[in-house]
Amino acid sequence: MLVVGSVEEVQKVRWVDGNLTWGLVPTMGYLHAGHLSLVRRARQENDRTAVSIYVNPTQFAPTEDLDKYPRDLEGDLGLLRDEGVDLVFTPTDRVMYPPGFQTVVEVQEITRLLEGTSRPTHFRGVATVVAKLLNIVQPAHAYFGQKDAQQAAVIRRMVADLNINVQIVVCPIVREPDGLAMSSRNARLTHEARRQAPVLFRALSTAQGAYRDGERQASVLRAHMQSTIAKASLARLDYVSVADPESLEELELVTGGALLSLAVFFGDVRLIDNLLLE
Ligand code: AMP
Repeated sequence: MLVVGSVEEVQKVRWVDGNLTWGLVPTMGYLHAGHLSLVRRARQENDRTAVSIYVNPTQFAPTEDLDKYPRDLEGDLGLLRDEGVDLVFTPTDRVMYPPGFQTVVEVQEITRLLEGTSRPTHFRGVATVVAKLLNIVQPAHAYFGQKDAQQAAVIRRMVADLNINVQIVVCPIVREPDGLAMSSRNARLTHEARRQAPVLFRALSTAQGAYRDGERQASVLRAHMQSTIAKASLARLDYVSVADPESLEELELVTGGALLSLAVFFGDVRLIDNLLLE
């Protein structure tokens, strides 16, 4: 496994044999089983697999947890080595945003809803860094988690709109045994907050149960999620949503599919989760 920090080194490895297909898994590190599920899928579907580890500052607002974001590069490299990854790209900020950098990628409508309401500059940072990573590695496939459902929708939109030559693959959410969606941020929860955090999945499951029992009013499904979250004393709800899975517009009635999603603070740790109603 090669670990490189410069764009030139990536491209040198990438183009040793231009006939080989590459899969790219972009991450911010502090890897867990959710990330590794993407890596395994990439390994299955490509000749070579690249993983990027980069905590991208432009997707964090000044008030957010950039400085506190957990990091463990040595641990991450050990896990990736065990998975048989070929190339790890660990750029610095100076490599990604050298002096003079002044271009951004802005996906417009779907970035204003859901996460975008609370984090208005987040997806500009995400789209820009992912566009750069796709251009640097030029993979046949790039792998993202359904955990960040809106991010996946934004990336798909960007790739279609800018004619980027890559197939976006979205992989299912990997959860802890108690239902909590795996996330690097879970490591920052206090003991008691960690104990309460499965309430996100419980809220989604309660709404799903109501849907299965025939409830189609989105407002009722939202109320189920809200009242479940309210039972966790440390949880502070940011939003709950029942939205169209593609446009991400809020629904009144669930007639086709729907994306149930929510964001909840435990102290300064913000967790998100979602569930698709088919
Ligand atoms: P991050 O390091 O948080 O930026 O995540 C890197 C990629 O892993 C993103 O595409 C995430 O959606 C995905 N991911 C994170 N957590 C999970 C999870 N629990 N299950 C599946 N994919 C995940």
